[in-house]
Amino acid sequence: MTALSPSIVWFRDDLRLGDHPALNAAIHRGGPLILLYIREKDAARKPGGAKRVWLHHSLQALKSDIEDRGGALILRTGVAADVIDALIKDSGARAVFWNRRYHEPDRDRDAAIKEALTERDVAVESFKANLLVEPWEVRTKAGTPYKVFTPFWRAAKDGMEVSDPLPAPKKLECVDKVLSAALDDWSLLPTQPDWGSKMLNHHTPGEAGAIARLTDFLDGPIEDYAQGRDRPDKALTSKLSPHLAHGEISPRQIWDACKDNEVTSRKFLSEIGWREFSYTLLFYNPDLATENFADGYEAMEWDHDDQAFEAWTKGQTGYPFVDAGMRQLWATGWMHNRVRMVVASFLIKHLMIDWRDGEDWFWDCLLEADLASNAASWQWVAGTGADAAPYFRVFNPFGQGEKFDPNGDYVRQWVPELKDLPNKYIQQPWTAPDKVLNAAGIELGRDYPEPIVDHKQARERVLEAYKTARNSA
Ligand code: FAD
Repeated sequence: MTALSPSIVWFRDDLRLGDHPALNAAIHRGGPLILLYIREKDAARKPGGAKRVWLHHSLQALKSDIEDRGGALILRTGVAADVIDALIKDSGARAVFWNRRYHEPDRDRDAAIKEALTERDVAVESFKANLLVEPWEVRTKAGTPYKVFTPFWRAAKDGMEVSDPLPAPKKLECVDKVLSAALDDWSLLPTQPDWGSKMLNHHTPGEAGAIARLTDFLDGPIEDYAQGRDRPDKALTSKLSPHLAHGEISPRQIWDACKDNEVTSRKFLSEIGWREFSYTLLFYNPDLATENFADGYEAMEWDHDDQAFEAWTKGQTGYPFVDAGMRQLWATGWMHNRVRMVVASFLIKHLMIDWRDGEDWFWDCLLEADLASNAASWQWVAGTGADAAPYFRVFNPFGQGEKFDPNGDYVRQWVPELKDLPNKYIQQPWTAPDKVLNAAGIELGRDYPEPIVDHKQARERVLEAYKTARNSA
């Protein structure tokens, strides 16, 4: 009997062994495996600094999970088509499997590889693995993609048949002695200074970390999620985002884990739905991170104020709730969703800085930076997106703090210089009488900035600018 030729499994944003349809198909085909991760030279958008840190640890975890099962993870750098060609030539592989991705430049590259390999009689199969519904599966009655979340999610849920997640294989039989780059040589981790390790104090990258995170969340916080998810002073959200962004857990596994608790998990699953919706938007609008989704905003005149932008990035705007968020992002690579909306609104509306600059900053700082969710969310806040907050909605940066951080705990954690201010003034220190500031050891402008813009004036200015832009469109 002749031995079966090897199969290549190409890992991308699906760094897990459980519920991995491409891996499962390769194992079922039989024959030894080549488990491949490519650092793609021609990637449309390279991962930002924080994401590279996560990627390093996620690949490390995947490598060790694979080795525990007797296999090997092969790391290569280059243009994917060339890397795969070289591997086929060296190993005699006759089949390539991957899970699908949804951004047009990636899809185009994948399609070209599939076509070229098929012509050479190499079998290629791709799978749905990172979404519950693929963008073409949910359409309006008119056959167009949805542009509003609520009907999208209703239709998605109605038409969705979620099968059981696939188990992780117990053993992996891999081709011997395939050359691999050393992960450390990819220099994904920062060294001078090593800000990455500090970020990871708050997270455990890798599939086991993802499953533990989900289990912990379902064991407690989910009970209060619907009421409490907007409170950054409480740890009531799942913090699964970096795990999902790297595919260490699949939405199907999450869905499955929640299915016996339909009522409690409804709100949480609808947030997973926002992720699905963002991917539909990205699929049909590949320029989502660079072009306004909605018409009528092209004439908007943004400010190019480097100093204001820097104050925002450093958490030095003089608005404690905004500053707390930006410092949380800088220190941990993650920020609470409510605060993201407020800081994004502050940048776009109070400082009148282009939403694309904020998107880019988040791209570099978020461990979970995700092309679809990041771009869709920034456009949502700017008012330029699908199903967006209306352009005239300007979040009040201290009102939001008073509502969602009523005791100032979140601000005190991230802006410790304000920690001795009474609750009454913690979101608006500029309103505190001198004697209160003195007693708290604060001199505004020395220990903590005065507000860099006046809320009321900024609001009027941006509304006028939006109106002018829309009138001239
Ligand atoms: P949970 O509340 O526990 O939600 C569970 C999961 O649902 C999340 O992990 C995420 O995958 C998904 N989800 C939740 N809210 C949203 C949303 N509004 N849009 C899309 N998916 C959502 N999310 C990213 O994953 N990557 C990003 O780069 C990103 N950038 C954002 C930028 C801005 C300006 C804003 C306002 C939001 C952004 N989000 C992004 C969405 C959201 O803030 C995060 O997904 C969420 O805060 C992650 O925390 P969690 O895992 O505890 O969320």
